[in-house]
Amino acid sequence: MKLADIHTVVVLGAGESGTGAAILAKQQGYEVFVSDLSTIKNEYIALLEQHQIAYEQEKHSVAKILNTASVVIKSPGIPYTVDLIQQLIAKNVPVIDEIEWASWFTQSKIVAITGSNGKTTTTRLMHHILETADWNVGVGGNIGYSFAKQVALTPKDAYVLEVSSFQLDGIQDFNPAVSILLNITPDHLDRYAYQLDNYIASKFRIIKNKKSSDLFIYNEDDENIKKALPSSLENNYAISMDALNSNSDLLQVAHTDFSIAKTDLTLQGRHNWFNTACAVLAAKKLGVSDEAIAKALKTFENEAHRLESVVSLNGVEYINDSKATNVDAVYYALEAMTKPVVWIVGGVDKGNDYSVLFPLVKEKVRAIVCLGKDNSKIKEAFGPVHEIIVETVSVNEAVKVSSLYAEQGDVVLLSPACASFALFENYKARGNEFKALLMHQHKILTKGVSVSLNVNIQMNPSDQRTDNS
Ligand code: ADP
Repeated sequence: MKLADIHTVVVLGAGESGTGAAILAKQQGYEVFVSDLSTIKNEYIALLEQHQIAYEQEKHSVAKILNTASVVIKSPGIPYTVDLIQQLIAKNVPVIDEIEWASWFTQSKIVAITGSNGKTTTTRLMHHILETADWNVGVGGNIGYSFAKQVALTPKDAYVLEVSSFQLDGIQDFNPAVSILLNITPDHLDRYAYQLDNYIASKFRIIKNKKSSDLFIYNEDDENIKKALPSSLENNYAISMDALNSNSDLLQVAHTDFSIAKTDLTLQGRHNWFNTACAVLAAKKLGVSDEAIAKALKTFENEAHRLESVVSLNGVEYINDSKATNVDAVYYALEAMTKPVVWIVGGVDKGNDYSVLFPLVKEKVRAIVCLGKDNSKIKEAFGPVHEIIVETVSVNEAVKVSSLYAEQGDVVLLSPACASFALFENYKARGNEFKALLMHQHKILTKGVSVSLNVNIQMNPSDQRTDNS
């Protein structure tokens, strides 16, 4: 679409991305109207008012939207199937995502990262590498500040963007100079008519507009990527995750002469070596020096809730991997463990197939502690594999039970494989509660704070520790 054809920009959903899109539209001189079916958070109302942007909340004025919009920017949370979007499409009004919108107003280099797991880690790492190399670079997309808002208010020479499949569904001309596709495992299938192929196609939209000079880095061993890979792509680089499974002390980044001792990396585990290799390859191709890359890899601090070592209590290390909301993430978490594991798992099961975890569970897990309202699927799956499965319904109980089973030198790993709702607002709330409780216990152990412990453990009799005779 031509910018000259735009008169009124309608933004549906006033979250971080919608508000940012509206600010950019206003700055570019368009009429802007923001409409949100829910209540808009105060911080976003303040921003809209500050920028004198018209808005409504708790409703969509359908007729007004249909009659005025030249282009609609919708929140990635709104599916294309809803009535209003279908009506707009029927009227040939482009309905796009905020990353598409923002890309129309910047010539800066874009590095875009997608995948089912590892997006945030790799995006943050890539950004850290470029910052360490003194680039004037922003980070955004599905995390942090809206890309559009940055383009409007704090423009940068380059952007590293985490992009979700929902965002990719709303692109037309978006074309990153570097695209990274980490992996594809079934997720969010409710938005893809329960067809894995639709989800795969959505992920591949990241290279929809790729020119031969643009770079594409992807996971060589991922079956879902392999089957959808276009045959004629110049400048595409495969990185093998399986190749990183060796006992080598060095991480050698394929297609480059870069290597670094694994002990120098702040990110550990094969999945993270893979994420690192992708980011390093991209950085090398963008001309970043080995020195800056090595410095960045040694100083990177990942976001919380991703294999985050919290504390050691009585010789037991507690690790918070609350962000592991699917089986694949848990697979790599368990694989990365070098000590016996008491594994806290559970929440809302999204139709998981746990069987890929069986060998790791047999090999490494001392006890399985379920944390969820309904643990029947986990009990059913792991019952034949492990004799110790205990049910708990709070973080407090889960930690206490775990500490009973964990022996000195063990790890207690919260890596749930499930969504957090039912017991928690989100994965952050679950991880934060876990950490707060552990830090409280740490305080008791180190400072002798007096407390009354109220242990009320619900054990399913058939799942109690038994003699395995
Ligand atoms: P995303 O943003 O895609 O959800 P994160 O970086 O937040 O990814 O990590 C989510 C979970 O997936 C964490 O538990 C993390 O340890 C795990 N993880 C990170 N990278 C990978 C990868 N390449 N493959 C599988 N799991 C991964």
